[in-house]
Amino acid sequence: MRAGKIFINDLLELGLLEKVHTVKITLYVSFNSAIVGSDHHTPQAILLGLEGSDPETIDTGTIPSRYAAIQETKSLLLGGTHHIHYDMDRDMLWRWDQVLKTHPNGMRFSVFGEQGDLLATNEYFSVGGGFVVNEKTKVDENLFYKGVDKSSVHGARLHQTHSLSEPTNERGEEESDPCSPPYPFASGDSLLALTRKHNMTIAQIVYDNELHFGYSHEDIRIKLMRIWSVMDDCIRTGVSTTEEKLPGRLGLRRRAPMLYRRLMRGFYPGVAGPTLPSIAAGNTPIPESIEAPVGDEYFSRATADTHEKKTGENRVAASSRGTRVIGSFEHPILPMPPRKTMIPAMDFLSCYAIAVNEVNASGGRIVTSPTNGAAGVIPAVLKYIVEFISDDPEKTIETFLLTAAAVGMLFKRGSTISAAEGGCQAEVGVACSMASAGFAACMGADPETVLQAAEIGIEHNLGLTCDPIDGLVQVPCIERNSLGAVKAVTAAQLSMASQNVYSVTLDEAIEAMRLTAADMSVKYKETSLSGLARTVKIPLTVPAC
Ligand code: SF4
Repeated sequence: MRAGKIFINDLLELGLLEKVHTVKITLYVSFNSAIVGSDHHTPQAILLGLEGSDPETIDTGTIPSRYAAIQETKSLLLGGTHHIHYDMDRDMLWRWDQVLKTHPNGMRFSVFGEQGDLLATNEYFSVGGGFVVNEKTKVDENLFYKGVDKSSVHGARLHQTHSLSEPTNERGEEESDPCSPPYPFASGDSLLALTRKHNMTIAQIVYDNELHFGYSHEDIRIKLMRIWSVMDDCIRTGVSTTEEKLPGRLGLRRRAPMLYRRLMRGFYPGVAGPTLPSIAAGNTPIPESIEAPVGDEYFSRATADTHEKKTGENRVAASSRGTRVIGSFEHPILPMPPRKTMIPAMDFLSCYAIAVNEVNASGGRIVTSPTNGAAGVIPAVLKYIVEFISDDPEKTIETFLLTAAAVGMLFKRGSTISAAEGGCQAEVGVACSMASAGFAACMGADPETVLQAAEIGIEHNLGLTCDPIDGLVQVPCIERNSLGAVKAVTAAQLSMASQNVYSVTLDEAIEAMRLTAADMSVKYKETSLSGLARTVKIPLTVPAC
């Protein structure tokens, strides 16, 4: 969407928009990336971007009807003002067999006048995290095309000086570049050195750099709170939706509402039932008053059992009825009676992450954190801290997001945050690392421990492949985010318990990820050509559409 809007803005600036008669869109992707792309809602996003919509402000509820209208009427309203004829079959071309050398996710827009004369053409690459670059602006940490209005981009970002190490002269002394932010960092080591030298936290370093880019204190606060508000809205939407299934021929059932009903006492009034029990820690027997979510066979049976327990039998005995227990009682290893265990932190993290990813899978608004497929990890961990740990939510949100952002920048600069380049380690792996650092920072850990948390977060995701079934960002993606969130908290806890004794630095892990990405077969890079995408057969009873 952002690429489409950037292109239209350029046409407007050049005074060409009104002359456009035809637009041709070519998408360059390897074979099944096209499948993944179409299920990332790529055509919808591009066309609505060309109509002038912005990913941050578009009313997501209108996307399906607007897309259907474009297809039905065969017309496109360029920039929201200029009508042209647009035929999807004729004007959008998927180059299944070609990948442009700049990046695997490439697209070319070309516009023609009434006589078929080429008015303008440009290539764009979606490199993850909502960032769009083209050949000219292809540099690390590129923020040029994060904003669609070039004139409002700060010079340091435009010329990329902010991503360089602290500049030094021939004598090795630091030199100040007026364009450069006060605390430039290019690696975990240089970031750590800055925190020590200036006695600052990682969040403070990022914050002061943002001030340098022309944002006021209030601007930064508002932007951070806006990001959090979208994340929180997304969780709320995911747990409160009445839709039962996700789009796509897998026919996947949405689980977040059911998970939330089981867990909640009612953070969002009206969503949780009034009779639901409080959360208890540890190994909790099946609660008596919880209602069985519709279609949950296991829980229905447990509830039925609970009613029978009123006869006075103890729960274990009641739940050991032969009708429910699988396994022989004539065996030295007796079958285990079913129990329901709640581990609140894990269950909440999972529920929040699944909620976000189900919203993403259904085309709703999420924060690319750092990417769409991995959008659930960071909101889940931050939500958990805000709800269960923080006594100052605003301070927590600022610290968490600024710290996580610093780690994301390190990955973007040193490796990749694009699954098309590095597989799922670049998406859920990086999200896990960012969330782990954010969690540790909010727990008051020192910068070295925070970066070590980030290291553990990525180290145990190295090699994670991308193999979504049927090209849908659903399986394994949705559950993978819940595991990413749980792993992030575990990584932070391990780091905080390690007293800064460790064997691998964050920079070493980022470099290992880069090498792993380079060596990884293209079959595991968002192409759905192998792994689960190949071994799992889509049920034949589900009609293809
Ligand atoms: S497997 Fe991972 S990288 Fe691939 S689409 Fe799913 S979440 Fe994204």
